[in-house]
Amino acid sequence: MYIKTSAVAVTLLQIAGFVQAATSTTKSTSTASSTKFVLADYWKSFNSKVDPLNITIAKIPQTTSLDGATQCKWYEPPANFDFKESEWPNLWETATSNGMNETAEFKRVYNAIDWSKAPNIKVRKIGSDGSLNMAGYDQNNDPDCWWSASTCTKPKQEGINEDIYTCPEPETWGLTYDDGPNCSHNAFYDYLEAEKIKASMFYIGSNVVNWPYGAQRGQKAGHHIADHTWSHQLMTTLTNTEVLAELYYTQKAIKMVTGVTPRHWRPAFGDVDNRVRWIATQLGLTTILWDLDTDDWAAGSTETVSTVKKTYEDYIAMGANGTFKNSGQITLTHEIDDTTMTLAMEFLPKIRKAYKNVLDVATCMNITNPYYEDNVVFAPFGAAAVSNTSSTASNTAASSTTIDITLPSASSASSAAVPVSSASSAAVSASHSATASSSVAAVAAVQNAESSAGIQLTSNSMIVAAFIVAAYLI
Ligand SMILES: [Zn+2]
Repeated sequence: MYIKTSAVAVTLLQIAGFVQAATSTTKSTSTASSTKFVLADYWKSFNSKVDPLNITIAKIPQTTSLDGATQCKWYEPPANFDFKESEWPNLWETATSNGMNETAEFKRVYNAIDWSKAPNIKVRKIGSDGSLNMAGYDQNNDPDCWWSASTCTKPKQEGINEDIYTCPEPETWGLTYDDGPNCSHNAFYDYLEAEKIKASMFYIGSNVVNWPYGAQRGQKAGHHIADHTWSHQLMTTLTNTEVLAELYYTQKAIKMVTGVTPRHWRPAFGDVDNRVRWIATQLGLTTILWDLDTDDWAAGSTETVSTVKKTYEDYIAMGANGTFKNSGQITLTHEIDDTTMTLAMEFLPKIRKAYKNVLDVATCMNITNPYYEDNVVFAPFGAAAVSNTSSTASNTAASSTTIDITLPSASSASSAAVPVSSASSAAVSASHSATASSSVAAVAAVQNAESSAGIQLTSNSMIVAAFIVAAYLI
């Protein structure tokens, strides 16, 4: 079941964090201002050196090569992003790590929020089997609009931004890629640029500081950049402070590296309830979910590549058979490794043939200012796709949410081709010894494989390892 997978994945990512060697304890306390702080202006205190409308990508092998291993080699961050470990949460740990909940800048944001208005919802627990504990929760009435329990997207409470989960316009494929930036994926970004395709890119904060040129490529090409949390955990299991930190430091990472501050975010595994939504709303963030899921992250590991291809084909067929005659959809796909990127490039031409519009979520919702920075403007839907269209969002319930992960037979998993980097392959290999302790083995394998990689240690491979091992444990 999906939830169990999520929870174990979280555990793995946490393990990864502990294994990692970020040890600095120096705190940044120099950003306090004497003028009264206005919460809505929090993004203005991020002193980014990057002009989002004038990004230059260095021509280093990692940003030009099409070879997977070369793209994923460590590189110095660009001169306009000065990364200091002491000023950030530890990579892949909860964003309060490294004392980041005690910094003056974070406290200023925290204290500017009127927490008395926060929905009184308990922090969720993870059960002994690694799944989200839903015992005692009224899933039928779903008072907390907990997506993991009910796929609820309408909070029904004042002061909470309602989720976006589908593109309302007919025959529209909302194109979304989660978990990047990973390495640089030049072939993929080159392809999107050449074909003038824009997607919503849900970037993980740890990955943004780890692979800054990847994020800069995303912004330079005009993709819709959004927040996917700092360490990719089940957000309903985190405290208020932790939820705020996960979102805040990812906002900061994206701003410092790309020059824009997102107005949208996506919870890892879709795990969101009204408490988490309310905190996101305090930072001006609206939740974007999905209504179709390719499971592409599992291709070649817990799913065969052909199974994932069949899912792609099915969704493509829906574009031509009238399923989306009166509405559109948002599909979940991933920016993880060569497998997910190869699948994307294989199917995008077919998707474009079957659907009238293939575009990012901001554009499909006719959102022309997806960032706080007003000078970065998106074309309205009509200009980007067809003319004379309405931007009114459909409020019908999600038609389907296909997020279950099917456990494959051992033979299909072990024989699947895994054309990815050595690090990811190591994670896959480790996960084949599917025991309760294999999570640690997988993490260790990834660590070994990437031990020479400076700060760029575990980002993309950790996600692969977490998902894969989790799927074996359910
Ligand atoms: Zn994700």
